[in-house]
Amino acid sequence: MRAVLLGPPGAGKGTQAARLAEQWGIPAISTGDIFRANIKGQTELGRKAQEFTHAGTLVPDEITNAMVRDRLAQDDVVNGFLLDGYPRNPDQAVELDSMLVELDVALDVAIEITADSELVIERLLKRAEIEGRADDTEPVIRKRLEVYATSTAPLTAFYAGRGLLVQVDGIGQVAEVTDRIVAAVESR
Ligand code: AMP
Repeated sequence: MRAVLLGPPGAGKGTQAARLAEQWGIPAISTGDIFRANIKGQTELGRKAQEFTHAGTLVPDEITNAMVRDRLAQDDVVNGFLLDGYPRNPDQAVELDSMLVELDVALDVAIEITADSELVIERLLKRAEIEGRADDTEPVIRKRLEVYATSTAPLTAFYAGRGLLVQVDGIGQVAEVTDRIVAAVESR
């Protein structure tokens, strides 16, 4: 299984990515998690990414694409992967295509978790209390939603055009949403 997971911030991508990865026995690769780990570890990559993640804007493609290219070259992805949070704009999607061509593999599915924006704002503000993420403040959440709408949402049409898109309603209990995704993907 080689899949990308799309959906607005707060739709539950991270939670579902971990559950789906376990179900399918493949690694979940979250670009947001990689950036956060690097920021915490004060690495060179972290220093480059920090200003963008904290502002809720996209880390430049050059940095992000190189990071994903390295990650996809590792041994644990040979039998599949679930990308959570990448690609985030059409240029990244084109770049992912070229990485997959180099690896001589193809994407099986693009899963989009849908959720209403008022609900995701509420969810993210709740998460801020629990996890204390630096980018879960209301102005930054609004910025992230705006970036999603302008940069990331066009990927829905991009993958639909290739017959790879599966859209799943992200509203409901965590396990229920996982079951919905698995059923939708496996019945294709
Ligand atoms: P996430 O955990 O997916 O919500 O990502 C948190 C932040 O990391 C985003 O707001 C961006 O600043 C950055 N980020 C994550 N994935 C990407 C990506 N594919 N391209 C650019 N920036 C990204």
